[in-house]
Amino acid sequence: MQALEDILQQAESAINTAADLKTLDHFRVQYLGKKGQVSEYLKTLGSLSPEDRPLIGQKINSTKEAIQSLITKRGEALKQAHIAKQLAGETIDITLPGRSTEFGSIHPLVKTLAELRRIFTEMGFVFMDGPEIEDDYHNFAALNIPPLHPARAMQDTFYFPDGRLLRTHMSPVQIRTMKQLRPPFRMVAMGRVYRRDFDLTHTPMFHQMECLMVDEQVSFAHLKGLLRQFLQSFFQSEVVIRFRPSYFPFTEPSAEVDIGCLKCAGKGCRICKQTGFLEVLGCGMVHPNVLTMAGIESQQYQGFALGLGVDRLTMLKYGIGDLRALFENDLRFLTQFK
Ligand SMILES: [Zn+2]
Repeated sequence: MQALEDILQQAESAINTAADLKTLDHFRVQYLGKKGQVSEYLKTLGSLSPEDRPLIGQKINSTKEAIQSLITKRGEALKQAHIAKQLAGETIDITLPGRSTEFGSIHPLVKTLAELRRIFTEMGFVFMDGPEIEDDYHNFAALNIPPLHPARAMQDTFYFPDGRLLRTHMSPVQIRTMKQLRPPFRMVAMGRVYRRDFDLTHTPMFHQMECLMVDEQVSFAHLKGLLRQFLQSFFQSEVVIRFRPSYFPFTEPSAEVDIGCLKCAGKGCRICKQTGFLEVLGCGMVHPNVLTMAGIESQQYQGFALGLGVDRLTMLKYGIGDLRALFENDLRFLTQFK
């Protein structure tokens, strides 16, 4: 009985000094394990007299329970201490300002592309697509621009060694559409085009939109009506429209279209270079040669086409002075369009 009492005391002081859970487990094995000090006494029970057996047995059990409860208590204390230490080491200063989330904004160019798509879809046009790497036929020859035609010099083209090229305008998509669809049809092609140019108003890659309508009774009057509706819808104001005779190999007659300056309403300012007008697009009636080359009967059908720079239109709408700002991804510029 005394020996068991001594073991309990020993165990108590050992357990209460255990510095971590591993040491504590070591003590548990030492006292309560199968070969532990308390268990050893169970083996001696057989050699005791029948009168002593229940009494000693009871003492062994109560000693076991007492040690187990000491271990549980110490274990809890150690766990709490560990958590407290961890919390102290990871203190959060709740008075610090939080990290704010920067919300993005839609790029002005993307806004313009979406707006153009909306306006022309409402007017019954379908959007067609084509490759950015083109061949000479679709980019030039089929557009009434044969080899050595001076109009080729108007467009500084990027060529590949095998003679293919990066499309210089969206017209190749018009050619592909004319071969694919039978008139009457109205189509728009919008996308990236490439020319060897780089300054305040030119970048090697820019965006163009071209629009083509082919039917039996299409006239310049339809073109003018469409332009008025489109430009007023896009700039959301009454606009003055001016046609100037011009030349493109693929249209006849051809015209360039100006709108009254949005800034000074025609009085003359820096943006319109004191002219009161802004150049916005080129257009014309599709040249019969182009229709014929695309397999469309030019005696029966006519068409009009227009082409514009999406980037320039974006600059005019938002008052952006440098085209390159659209492609530099400067957040100070982009966040102004939220
Ligand atoms: Zn002006």
